[in-house]
Amino acid sequence: MNRHVHTFLGCESEYGDARIVVFGAPFDGTTSFRPGARFASASMRGDSYGLETYSPYQDRDLGDIAVSDGGDLELPFGNTEKVLGLIEAYTTGIVSDGKIPCMIGGEHLVTLGAVRAAVKTHPELHVLHLDAHADLREDYLGERLSHATVMRRVWELTGDGRIHQFGIRSGTREEFQWAKTHVTTRRYDLNGLADTVARITGKPVYVSVDLDVLDPSVFPGTGTPEPGGVGFMELLDAILALRGLTIVGADITELSPVYDQSGASTATACKVLRELLLVMGG
Ligand code: MN
Ligand code: MN
Repeated sequence: MNRHVHTFLGCESEYGDARIVVFGAPFDGTTSFRPGARFASASMRGDSYGLETYSPYQDRDLGDIAVSDGGDLELPFGNTEKVLGLIEAYTTGIVSDGKIPCMIGGEHLVTLGAVRAAVKTHPELHVLHLDAHADLREDYLGERLSHATVMRRVWELTGDGRIHQFGIRSGTREEFQWAKTHVTTRRYDLNGLADTVARITGKPVYVSVDLDVLDPSVFPGTGTPEPGGVGFMELLDAILALRGLTIVGADITELSPVYDQSGASTATACKVLRELLLVMGG
């Protein structure tokens, strides 16, 4: 681990004291269009200090919960399986220590490493997946490990009926067809999330937020922007609706800060993470 970074806003607990551990997985080696998500965690740590630790939406403060920032994993670009192994090993340590991992990508494939760790401890795992893209391809240009295949690989670990997708507005005909019998897919928006939450309450849940679920007009800083997405308040409402769930792991992925020099996308990612941490710490 590279400890020579400052921590994300309000994540200053020592590892031993922490209930939640934030860490970065700065990998974008399989990004199909524009790379750059490897810079997300460093960018977010720096810019997070523009936010308050207090959330008026939740009347909670990051200072009320014990979160540690573990830093960034040092990942070898060019060896995707090794990258996933390192993410799995680090996440397994967090879970074994009775803590909740919260990973900052990186591209979306990093989710597979963390879910591999979570499903070992929680075989009944459900996955809540917010994204513009279905990510259900069997392969992408012949590669089984890609941010375009990540949920198909997750399905191989969880089986049918355990992946709940929202906001999906991009995929191949085959992906949408395959999805009908294996996962639940809410197209275009986040409606119906409350019903899903009610159904999986009490079960272990992994929450994976691919930030490109947001519309590119509010979140241009991403590698594969997809028009027709939700606004910030819709995403915030969805995150707040997760209160009460047994969240055993989470991630936010696909911020690529270089594509939004205004910094608004990074600020948005930081605020999403703050609210998610406060929900997880509830
Ligand atoms: Mn994705
Ligand atoms: Mn996506």
